[in-house]
Amino acid sequence: MVHASARNFRIRSPKTSIDKLAASIRACERCAALVKCRSQAVPGAGAIPAEIAFVGLAPGRFGGDRTGVPFEGDRSGELLRRMIRYAGLESVFITNVVRCNPRDTAGRNRDPSASEIANCRDHLAAEMELAQPRLVVCLGRIAWRELAGRERPFTPGAAKPTIARGLRLWPMYHPGYVIRGAYPEKSYRRDFARIARIVRAERFEPPD
Ligand code: SF4
Repeated sequence: MVHASARNFRIRSPKTSIDKLAASIRACERCAALVKCRSQAVPGAGAIPAEIAFVGLAPGRFGGDRTGVPFEGDRSGELLRRMIRYAGLESVFITNVVRCNPRDTAGRNRDPSASEIANCRDHLAAEMELAQPRLVVCLGRIAWRELAGRERPFTPGAAKPTIARGLRLWPMYHPGYVIRGAYPEKSYRRDFARIARIVRAERFEPPD
């Protein structure tokens, strides 16, 4: 069991190594419906500490649920990782709001329920505690709402990061949205170049 505040990610929790945390996530069975449909629970992965964290929604059916690594093995993951390389981002941690692939009765990806998100909240808090990212990119509306709160609108292209719960948050479209053609890849590339500039600039400023 991970003990970390769900309300403020900068509150110190007992030192838990990322490996112990990952093992605890893999063994988690809090969400009965997800335990039935997942192939595996998928902890976050990447640099600890990290300059930048990407938080998606959930492991994809053809991606993390299959490979055990968030955003790896499907088209969304391929696009995200290509954009990360394009932007020259190296110190990166990648995770999701929930760690198990939610499926509907037809076996298709679905959004996680409010209770499933709440069940997984302390996993995300503990990962942010260990990664201590300078910037947290929320991939899509649900990740944004989870970290920034419902009262702050999801506005990709915002002028500056939003500070909430001790984190600097940045709203960005989920790569799946780009793959569906709802947002141009050219604009997505420009957005990644922008967050790379923010991270580089913040190397020279202490985090709030
Ligand atoms: S989604 Fe999170 S809380 Fe729910 S079973 Fe998976 S790891 Fe546990």
